[in-house]
Amino acid sequence: MLEKIVIANRGEIALRILRACKELGIKTVAVYSRVDRDLMHVRLADEAVCIGPNPSTESYLNIPRIISAAEVTGACAIHPGYGFLAENANFAEMVENSGFTFIGPSADVIRTMGDKVAAIQTMQKSGVPTVPGSNGPLDENHERTLHIAHEIGYPVIIKASAGGGGRGMRVVHCETALLSAIEITQTEAKAAFGDGTVYMEKFLQNPRHVEVQVLADGQGQAIHLHDRDCSMQRRHQKVVEEAPAPHIDAQARANVLKSCTDACLSLGYRSAGTFEFLYEYGHFYFIEMNTRVQVEHPVSEMITGIDIIKQQLLIASGQPLAIMQNDVQIRGHAFECRINAEDPKSFLPCPGQVTQFHAPGGLGVRVDSHLYSGYCIPPYYDSMIAKLITVADTREQALNRMRVALDEMIIDGIRTNITLQRDIVCDAKFAAGGVNIHYLEEKLGI
Ligand code: ADP
Repeated sequence: MLEKIVIANRGEIALRILRACKELGIKTVAVYSRVDRDLMHVRLADEAVCIGPNPSTESYLNIPRIISAAEVTGACAIHPGYGFLAENANFAEMVENSGFTFIGPSADVIRTMGDKVAAIQTMQKSGVPTVPGSNGPLDENHERTLHIAHEIGYPVIIKASAGGGGRGMRVVHCETALLSAIEITQTEAKAAFGDGTVYMEKFLQNPRHVEVQVLADGQGQAIHLHDRDCSMQRRHQKVVEEAPAPHIDAQARANVLKSCTDACLSLGYRSAGTFEFLYEYGHFYFIEMNTRVQVEHPVSEMITGIDIIKQQLLIASGQPLAIMQNDVQIRGHAFECRINAEDPKSFLPCPGQVTQFHAPGGLGVRVDSHLYSGYCIPPYYDSMIAKLITVADTREQALNRMRVALDEMIIDGIRTNITLQRDIVCDAKFAAGGVNIHYLEEKLGI
């Protein structure tokens, strides 16, 4: 078992990782920026090291400082959480080269999956279904490019291979606009990501976002923890998630779940990971893999009873997976509402002091949050401040439980999106299940 680890993150996920470590008897080192000294997990950690000023480039993204913190505290491993350095292959490599364990997959796998063209090609080899498209980078051969678009049919989407966070994509509706759109996307991608490689996919017009959670030990065992639906998005940011995804074709689901574990084995994947798909008219289309734990992992935990962070820690300790696929049984349905410190109308971040915090509770209610009364939310980082999760025997009951829990939740002193979340969970179409990725924006009138 790992003895002592550095938690290279902040906020709710740092606290989440700390709790899992405590349960496993692993000592923890919190690393924090100056403004974050009052974070909940910094107080609860065995040791805490200030790694620099507030901007994340000088703290949570500063690789030498994080590795130094591991050195001076005698830690043996680093958990990156999500965001920040979690999918930075160079970081994973430097951690390992410095003699520490990176709690995640190998740097090579992170690098391959971070390059979307390489990821798609790798997935196709493992039999994972992908979106019809160029299946590789677009080159100078304009005739070929026009032919591919003609074959798959308009609209098409041009995507940067190195893109992420919803950036570096452009939809093209007709042939006359295609070549110039490709050129603009290439130029933008080069400027934003340092890599101008772009590829083309059919633009699906009515898709849902459905993803598969996997766990693999890199020693020949891989399992899936079923799927999640994260179609409620605003500007490609997930707002509400649920597990399992409702109204999915049973055969398509069985095939895709199997193809994900097969892909883990052929990749030699290690740790937790997520395969993201678009789901339309009964078919799954792979779009990307996230080689880290995700914000919405709790909904899968609540329906399977499996602690994903603990599994990451056990796998990083070198232990083979002790859970077999047959041991994974779904019980009920879970929802997660992301609570953000933001104006409910303009969506602008709204940092400041939380004068009062009251978390809802009761059977089947979980709150993952670093908030406490008096805590001051700094303006430098992500605006997500809490995740409210409910679980119950049926989807309807879990949603009803969420309505009750949201009504109970009090966060005073700042503006939050709780009112928006209350509105969403009372929406009839959302309650029916299976809305597409455009539904929330249409509902909001944007
Ligand atoms: P990122 O890494 O930037 O999140 P993704 O490839 O995951 O990029 O795509 C982000 C979002 O863009 C998807 O969740 C979906 O909403 C939309 N999208 C991506 N590809 C397509 C496509 N082929 N058709 C329709 N929408 C797409």
